[in-house]
Parts: sequence; C-alpha cells; structure tokens
Amino acid sequence: MNPTVEPLPVHGHVPERQAVINLSAIAHNIGTLRSIAAPAKLMAVVKADAYGHGMLPVARTALAAGADWLGTAHVSEALQLRAAGIDAPVLAWLHTPSTDFAAAVAAGIDVGCSGWELEHIAAAARAQERPARIHLKIDTGLGRNGCSMAGWDALVSDAIAYQDEGLLRVVGVFSHLAVADEPHRPETDAQLEVFREAVAIAEDAGADLEVRHIANTPATLSRPDAHFDLVRTGLGIYGLSPFEDRTSAQLGLVPAMTLQTRVALCKDVPAGQGVSYGLNFVSNRPTTLGLIPLGYADGIPRVATGGPVRVNGTTYPVVGRIAMDQMVIDLGPDGRAGFSGAEVPGSALGCAAVLFGDGSDGGPLVEQWAEAAGTVNYEVVTRISGRVPRSYVGGA
Ligand SMILES: *Cc1c(COP(=O)(O)O)cnc(C)c1O
Repeated sequence: MNPTVEPLPVHGHVPERQAVINLSAIAHNIGTLRSIAAPAKLMAVVKADAYGHGMLPVARTALAAGADWLGTAHVSEALQLRAAGIDAPVLAWLHTPSTDFAAAVAAGIDVGCSGWELEHIAAAARAQERPARIHLKIDTGLGRNGCSMAGWDALVSDAIAYQDEGLLRVVGVFSHLAVADEPHRPETDAQLEVFREAVAIAEDAGADLEVRHIANTPATLSRPDAHFDLVRTGLGIYGLSPFEDRTSAQLGLVPAMTLQTRVALCKDVPAGQGVSYGLNFVSNRPTTLGLIPLGYADGIPRVATGGPVRVNGTTYPVVGRIAMDQMVIDLGPDGRAGFSGAEVPGSALGCAAVLFGDGSDGGPLVEQWAEAAGTVNYEVVTRISGRVPRSYVGGA
C-alpha cells in the first residue's frame, strides 16, 4: 500500500448503500389513516418485513402512533413480534398444514380460519389448555383464501360447536377485497353485500364478534362503508398510494423509505459506447456515465431500465441493462460540469445517488420505478433485499 494515497472525501457521510426508513413518516401516516378510519380501529399490516421497511421498528412505531392491532400473513411473523416483547393484538391469516398453531395459541396470536384449519386450531387449543381466538374468513369474491359462501354455514356451525366446548372463541369475521384500488368498480359493492350476509349468519349462529373487517388501504381511503370495526392497512402506513391516479401527497401520506447509495465510478465515453450486458444502450454522443452500485441482487428489478436516479439535484435515467450488482446512469454531455461544486471537482464520484424517497425535494418516487418495471409500488419496496442495510430516523 502506498501510504501517501489520500482518502476519498466523504460526501455528507452517505454509507455505501442504505434504505433509510423515516419512522416519523410512518407515525404520521398511521395518524392520517386512523383519523380517516375512526371510529373503526386500525390494524398496521407488517407482513413481509413490513413491506421491506423492517418489521420490529415499524410495529413499535405503529403502536406508539396509535395502531390498535398488528397484522401478518404468517404465524411465524407474528411469533417474531411476540418474541420481541410486543403484546398488542396480532392476527395472522395465511396458514399451511405445517403452521405451528400450538405456538400461535400459546403466544396469544389470533388466527384467521378459512376452513381446514379449524380442527387443527382446536387440537392446538386442547393441547395448550388455552382457548384459541379465531377470525373466520369468508371469500366474498376475491377467489383466493377464505371460505366460499357455499361452505360458510357449515364452517360457522363447526366453529361455534368448538366455541361451546370452550376450545376457541370466534372473535372476528373478515374478508379481503379484489378491486378496491379501482373505486369505480361495482364488484366491491357485491363483496360488501356478501360480507354483511356472512357476518349476519355468524352472529345468528352465536358468534359474539369483537371485530368485523374487510378494508385494505384503498378501501380505507375510498370506501367508508367498508370500514366496519377495523381496517387493515399496509401500503398506506408506508406512505404509498394504492391508486393509479392519486399521489401520496394528494392523500396526505409521506413515503417512508429512501433508497440511496453513492456513485461508484464516473467516466467520459465517446459516441458509440455500448453499456452493460447485451449492449442494449449505445451512446449517440460523447457523454459521461455514472456507475450506481445497486442491482437486482439488491432488489432493483432487472427490467427497470429507464428508472430514475437523483444525483446532485438532477434526475438521470438508468441506461442499458440492470445487472446483479450495478447499473449505469447517463449524466449527459455536461455530466462533469454539473459536479463542479462536488467534493471531487468535476466528477460525480462519491456523490449521493437517490433512487427514490419522499419526493419532498422533487426527487424520484417509488412509483417511477414501479412504472419502469411494469409493476406496482408494493413490489418495489417489498423486494429491496436484505443486502441493503436499513437505517432508521425519527420516531413516533
Ligand atoms: C396484505 C394484506 C392487507 C394490506 O393491504 P394493503 O393494500 O397493503 O393495505 C390487508 N389484508 C390482507 C388479508 C392482506 O393480505
């Protein structure tokens, strides 16, 4: 090593790559959604590592900001909440015959039940000598999880029989909506109609329900008649809009995740320079390229060429194919002049590069990456991989 080599200047202490989670934004979004949902209660859906934001910090922030419930898909996710000392009401709703219902009952986790689970839950309750708390799930039209209307009477009466035996309590009836993100569609009305009927059947059979719930984020925002006793919000608590034609800002929500890294290389190339695997991009003029050290192993969709990266206050498009670890932005013919004020004069090397954030500075948004990838904002944030360290700012 040459001891005289100067260290590169550090631009504002930007780590190599990180997803910064603004917990104050999550607290703000919880507050906004709570006031929209009231008097219904609010469940913060923290499945899938809180849509990539980190389950435990998000769960704690959501509860401190007034969320009444937490929701997960898997019992194993709910158990992680309990293991971290979180004792708020938790519901888990997606099971397989390998699900550890005994652990769920022992940890006081509410479980969704679409049919086959019922006898397994009852057996777990018997073994644990503790009654289970279940929410019966009716398929009101989504055609995914949940009991069909044809089997509902039988499921309800079987559940009430176990309840009479003292093995469980039917504390909830719930369902999930298919098209609430398109508020004009009539299928939501039809689903709500079936839901009301299913609730009435359960109550007539002897269920003393604490909560009836069907609304996800889009229904919470657009269908007050779907709120019932509890809304289950995921996307909205992360500050993202479920609607194609309405932004986070228009909904009063603040995006919580900022994905950033530093420019790893900056170089001038002549006209005719091919870029990245396949050489799908060829520069049509002399230009300056910036290397961004994030790729599909970090969860950036490989197909998202054209996605925006903000450097030094300007947004540049990704050119050429996104690779496993890296991608390239075209800084343009004056791509060096733009960095005259940077700490490496005339070069973007080391500058902060932001892929998406809260948009407050006019910077790029998750939705632009979703569009570049042909997907939804849900998928973009959820797929940011474990290779990208999360860091947390703010709080409730
Ligand atoms: C993921 C999920 C939600 C949350 O949906 P958002 O649109 O993110 O609010 C609610 N309910 C169920 C059953 C889910 O699986």
